[in-house]
Amino acid sequence: MRKFRELMQDVALSPEDEERYHVMQVGTQLRYTWTAMLVTILFQLYNICYTLIYTHGTLSTTSSKVYLCLYIIMLSVTGALVLYRFAALRHSYPPERTLRLQTAYAAFSMLWALAITLYDQRVSDNVTTYLSLAIFLSLLIYFKPLQALLTFGVPQLILVILWWRQYLFDGSVYGQLISTTAVAAMSFFIACYRYYAGRYTFAEHQTILRQNQQIQDKNKLLELLVHRDDLTGIYNRRFLKAYLPVLCAQAQSLRQPLTVFMVDIDDFKTYNDSFGHQRGDTCLRLVAQAMNVQMSQGYFLRYGGEEFCGIVMGLSPSEALEEGRSLCEAVEALKLDTAEPHRYVTVSIGVFTAVPERPDQWKEMINKADKALYQAKKLGKNQAVFDGAQNECPCF
Ligand code: GH3
Ligand code: MG
Ligand code: MG
Repeated sequence: MRKFRELMQDVALSPEDEERYHVMQVGTQLRYTWTAMLVTILFQLYNICYTLIYTHGTLSTTSSKVYLCLYIIMLSVTGALVLYRFAALRHSYPPERTLRLQTAYAAFSMLWALAITLYDQRVSDNVTTYLSLAIFLSLLIYFKPLQALLTFGVPQLILVILWWRQYLFDGSVYGQLISTTAVAAMSFFIACYRYYAGRYTFAEHQTILRQNQQIQDKNKLLELLVHRDDLTGIYNRRFLKAYLPVLCAQAQSLRQPLTVFMVDIDDFKTYNDSFGHQRGDTCLRLVAQAMNVQMSQGYFLRYGGEEFCGIVMGLSPSEALEEGRSLCEAVEALKLDTAEPHRYVTVSIGVFTAVPERPDQWKEMINKADKALYQAKKLGKNQAVFDGAQNECPCF
């Protein structure tokens, strides 16, 4: 009961949601009413033919003329609306206008059913057309509460006014009065329920979508925090562990070379000893950022301490070595003064390039690049060196 009361309260939607909901309703509404209108046209054509055949084309009785007239009216109005809707599709008329016309057409249908029902009463107590149309419209058309009240209330009020005297006089229309009033009220409630429940469900759906978006945003932020190094702001080793296997598998399937750069700042212990750890941190940050900018393609990360790692796909060995040299130059170009005997802070780089043959080959590649880094240190630092075993470049 509480739920029902909750449902019958109008849900406040933000202007953007209101617009979105409206567009959705217009789309659904217009899509599902095509069939109903085509069936109505066919049904009216059948009625017209039947009336003509029944009277052998003479339309001799008044009732046949009245019925034929009513069928032609319904056929014409429905036909006109179908034509309008085709034109609306073709010329992209505003869908709101089409929807308003569709709702007005539904109200007209009820009045038309009322006319048929009243005329039927001369010979029978048949109210089927009126009842079935009311239920059908309440289930098919998207009415606002006031529109529903007018669509179902006005014809019913006319019926009650017209039948009231007859009911008091001989009670003959008692059954029709009860059933039509009950069904009109029911149709009104169905239409209202659909209106409120539709908005309620939509609002809930929007809330879930928004919450999902917030969770996704938070996840992205978390991932960013987890994969970023606090001091330098570049990626960290966790990122390497998570993505290098993926990159390796990708390079393997694309038959592309993958290059690993292992970078180490030269004589950094001396730097710390001479200038203190705080300046050492600043130096680390500047060096990291300079290399990160230099390595515009691929990934650059802090491996640990004063060691960094770069990963790039698609470089030939000579291009990889060239890139390594550019990294060295980028650091030297910072002109960060260091302790004697050197002038500026520099880095040594070990480079290894290969087309991976297995997804887990990245570990081996890091080892090879590390060996090359050791050679660079041995050869005098401030330089990029290829892994010795790769001089022949067997992969290329
Ligand atoms: P090499 O040229 O052979 O690499 O000499 P090195 O002095 O750079 O090598 P070593 O590995 O002996 O020293 C690395 C130093 O890096 C030791 C440590 O004090 C410093 N270091 C590592 N992490 C940090 C950090 O986060 N901040 C600072 N300021 N220093 C760090
Ligand atoms: Mg080191
Ligand atoms: Mg070092």
